[in-house]
Amino acid sequence: MKKGMRDALHRIFGFSSFRPNQEVIVSNIMAGRDVFAVMPTGGGKSLCYQLPAHMLEGLCVVISPLISLMKDQVDAAKANGLDAEFLNSSLTPKERFRVFQSLDNHQLDLLYVSPERFAMPEFIATLKQAKVSFFAIDEAHCISEWGHDFRPDYLSLANIVKHFPKVPVAAFTATATHKVSDDIIAKLGLRNPHLVRASFDRPNLFYQVVPKENLDLQILHFLRERKGESGIIYRTTRKSVESTTEFLQEQGVRALAYHAGLTDKQRKENQDQFNRDEAEVVVATIAFGMGIDKSNVRFVLHGDLPKNMEGYYQETGRAGRDGEPAHCRLFFNRGDMVRIRYFIEQTDDPMEKKIAEQQLFQMVRFAEANVCRRKTLLGYFGETYAKANCKTCDICMGEVECVDATVPAQKVMSAIHRSGQKFGAVHIADIVVGADTQKIRQMGHDQLKTYGAGKDMDKKYWRRVIDDLLAQECLVQNQDSYSALELTPKGQQVLLGKKKFEVIRQKEVKKADFDGFSGDYSPNLFMQLRAERQRLAQNECVPPFVIFSDRTLREMALYFPDTPEKMSGISGVGAAKLEKYGDTFMIIIEMYKHLHPDEAQKHSVLQVPVTIIKKSRKKKTGQTVTDTLKLAKQGFSLEAMADMRGLSEGTISQHIEKLLEEGQGNGLDVDKLLGSAKRLQIEELFNQHSGKSMKAIIEASSDTVNYAELRIVRAFMQAND
Ligand code: ADP
Ligand code: MG
Repeated sequence: MKKGMRDALHRIFGFSSFRPNQEVIVSNIMAGRDVFAVMPTGGGKSLCYQLPAHMLEGLCVVISPLISLMKDQVDAAKANGLDAEFLNSSLTPKERFRVFQSLDNHQLDLLYVSPERFAMPEFIATLKQAKVSFFAIDEAHCISEWGHDFRPDYLSLANIVKHFPKVPVAAFTATATHKVSDDIIAKLGLRNPHLVRASFDRPNLFYQVVPKENLDLQILHFLRERKGESGIIYRTTRKSVESTTEFLQEQGVRALAYHAGLTDKQRKENQDQFNRDEAEVVVATIAFGMGIDKSNVRFVLHGDLPKNMEGYYQETGRAGRDGEPAHCRLFFNRGDMVRIRYFIEQTDDPMEKKIAEQQLFQMVRFAEANVCRRKTLLGYFGETYAKANCKTCDICMGEVECVDATVPAQKVMSAIHRSGQKFGAVHIADIVVGADTQKIRQMGHDQLKTYGAGKDMDKKYWRRVIDDLLAQECLVQNQDSYSALELTPKGQQVLLGKKKFEVIRQKEVKKADFDGFSGDYSPNLFMQLRAERQRLAQNECVPPFVIFSDRTLREMALYFPDTPEKMSGISGVGAAKLEKYGDTFMIIIEMYKHLHPDEAQKHSVLQVPVTIIKKSRKKKTGQTVTDTLKLAKQGFSLEAMADMRGLSEGTISQHIEKLLEEGQGNGLDVDKLLGSAKRLQIEELFNQHSGKSMKAIIEASSDTVNYAELRIVRAFMQAND
């Protein structure tokens, strides 16, 4: 059995090993036991039910709350060769009929449905006919009023155990305190479930906090270093979302906004564009949430301080689902804290107020303490992080340091003391830098001993010192007197030199060597593979990550696999994807090798880690681009070459396209390949329907031309431009 599971893991998903807890969950489901699993985002929950769904006889019914995600999930399962469908209100009657038909014919491994169906007796009756092997409930926390995404529809899931007493139920969530966990188990009526509570640690996420100064510029700077990568930028208000988006767009960044003020349609459209890698970044309020299943989010930036650690964890958690390194940066200044506190003050319920204050305090401590960020974050979830150095946060990487700031602190506090503790931060900073303002002249503060004592630094620096003094409670702001700064007893001690004052400061370090993937992959080939993925995704109307993850493409750009055997050793390439996309990507790799022999040699000697052939497939002879070139030069037509070599016309046309793109097409003649009549017909079609998709053009031709032919003519037209 164990071996069967591993084989299937490899054959279907193309993975060489299980992630933590996956194997035990799959085994329990296979053994017919209920399961309740709390695993972090990106932990690989889908595989926990998709694998047994494939191995067990009968149908696995997956309950998932978000209609917007179901299609992507089903597309992803199908891309791996599973028989999957979904049922929700977005289907047309015809589509629905088709799904019910395949249900009646017992053809499905997986059926995704929305929770409200379980309130419908007809649906329950249909399922009873359908031989259900088990139920998988995703986002199970939605059933609990204690959780943060309660959905009344989920309550009808209590019907499952009632109506299907013999069928096991596996429930999954990424977010549940112990209290919520108990509630979920009780509400669903799980029967002595196998419990899994995985660590909340996300080792591939890099956590970092930097002082917030000119936020939009800071964000732009970050993006410039990560061109082409996907990321999310969180901001608190709709207005700030809009302004950051506009700023980035003006700077040429493909950024889109997402907040509750947009129409449903617009939100969906923006999210789709992000999913399809057509927009690099989404600037969003926290309304952009559970619906994000995109696996290659490479960074999450927080432009403002989140209200609590739970939110921060969930939001950063959307980065790096594919297990590849991802960057989480929080821009922080104390002004944000003041603003949040202002909102907390508006709440009437004293209990609520107290909780909110406590949560804010924890968040600020996370941002300001000189303690491993990971340790603090996991500590919040009641987990103890055992390692002394996590190596993936700014603190552990030594990006920040503890600096003695007693002297600057004394300068500030002396200015406060000498001016009578009656002034706010702006004026105090003015005194210290020796500014020439009307207020200073009026008050005679240019006569103070501390006037200009800090002119070697700028105002921003002194404001920061004041913030630090407030943070460490050496100063307080007098709320009754225009936020005048006053010394606390602790501040007095520092001023008198009886106590040291230390602050955390960003250290100037060279960019942490965390940019990725351990292997030394070829970035140029990676870009080409990505472009091909984008093209395929557009043709198939699926998000690019459904085709291959970034990780998979990086491995290809490291190992240069050019045979099906090697290709099948790449993580994420299962039998179905090998069959469907293997050739396409191998052609690109082969061409790349041909043009970059030095790189090719370096990479080809590397061994792909696992080389089990996922599906026995004889290597066809003469599959290479160079063979195509040779034959085409001899004057063989597209059809003849395809016949002779047992390849599809599509593959050959791709060879030709590649050759022309790379300027290797000398001696190729389009009229020999297609015949001049065909060539003329297609050129005419392109002229008439310029800007239309190939599909539309084929329809317009009443199917007298095909993709392969169109691709060839287009490639020649482009080559002659
Ligand atoms: P979750 O639902 O728990 O947030 P997903 O099921 O979406 O996570 O999986 C996250 C990513 O991890 C996906 O890209 C998936 O293909 C990948 N993944 C899952 N299991 C494995 C594994 N055993 N090895 C490598 N990658 C995996
Ligand atoms: Mg999931």
